[in-house]
Amino acid sequence: IFILAIESSCDDTSAAVLRDGVLLSNVTASQAVHEEYGGVVPELASRAHQQNVVPVVDAALKRANVAKEELSAIAFTRGPGLMGSLLVGVNFAKGMARALGIPLIDVNHLQGHVMAHFIKESDDDKNQPPFPFLCLLVSGGNSQIVKVNAYNDMEILGQTIDDAAGEAIDKCSKVMGLGYPGGPIIDRLARQGNPKAYQFSEPHIPGLDYSFSGLKTSFLYNLRKWVAEDENFIENHKEDLAASLEWTIVDILMKKLKLAAKETGIKHIAVAGGVSANNGLRNAFHDYAKRFGWTIYIPKFGYTTDNAAMIGIVGTYKYRDKDFCDIDAPAFSKVTFK
Ligand code: ATP
Ligand code: FE
Repeated sequence: IFILAIESSCDDTSAAVLRDGVLLSNVTASQAVHEEYGGVVPELASRAHQQNVVPVVDAALKRANVAKEELSAIAFTRGPGLMGSLLVGVNFAKGMARALGIPLIDVNHLQGHVMAHFIKESDDDKNQPPFPFLCLLVSGGNSQIVKVNAYNDMEILGQTIDDAAGEAIDKCSKVMGLGYPGGPIIDRLARQGNPKAYQFSEPHIPGLDYSFSGLKTSFLYNLRKWVAEDENFIENHKEDLAASLEWTIVDILMKKLKLAAKETGIKHIAVAGGVSANNGLRNAFHDYAKRFGWTIYIPKFGYTTDNAAMIGIVGTYKYRDKDFCDIDAPAFSKVTFK
């Protein structure tokens, strides 16, 4: 089975080719235009997708050494995401599938992030979690604990009631004047700082849900106070600020995940989404694995942020189940598991 996958939900245009679940190519064009705005500008994103989609798909096929006539089906991200961005990939996929006379497969972006753990890099790549497992899905738009019963059966046990973890990191980085996206910058600075230097408030909400807006506000108010006392405060303390912020976010994430593991009795625990690139979070996973006997699954860096390989692996599973979609399937922007 040869699957071409296309991802265009936010600001990365990505295409991948997989043979029976083995990744042959994964090409991503990121969009630098958003940096000067400190966040993704939807209209600029869809324009850039429009420019990138043809060359990215061509490059993915070429790198995989697969001719388009050999493709079994085309998988695409149907949602959630930015509507204008999604439409580019969705309509490109539809046109190409129609032209080639092959099936179309719609993929939920969040299911893709979780299923990134099943991308195989070779035929004997076997490091995949057994069902059911828990997945901490932490990205720019979502923070949730998902119980994964099967590739197409996921239950959300808890989720953020306001901001996502990645969003909180990006906003705090922005108020420090550090640039966008803040995740990788905070990660790098945090390596040189003291995580116990400052204390920021942690939420007290019941169950397995998360909240990050209080932390964001506490960070902002503290920062304003310190800067009022010393205008060079951020410059002189950015490592400690980053380390303390990261420590707090990781602590919030891990406490609820630990509770979910306890409540479900599941010890196979994965992490996915852009924030799973974070070194502090990865270290915490290793630490918890040792302390609580978890078997952990941490994706390679290339499969943490948006990529088409994760869409292609879901496409491969759906192809095997002949779970295709109609040409008139609309994109959806809202967060939902189908
Ligand atoms: P969603 O998948 O919820 O629709 P998205 O696709 O925008 O949202 P991703 O691409 O999965 O999100 O992740 C992007 C987020 O990951 C950003 O908030 C970014 O700052 C964060 N991120 C990336 N690398 C790191 C890192 N090393 N440490 C912390 N956060 C990171
Ligand atoms: Fe994403």
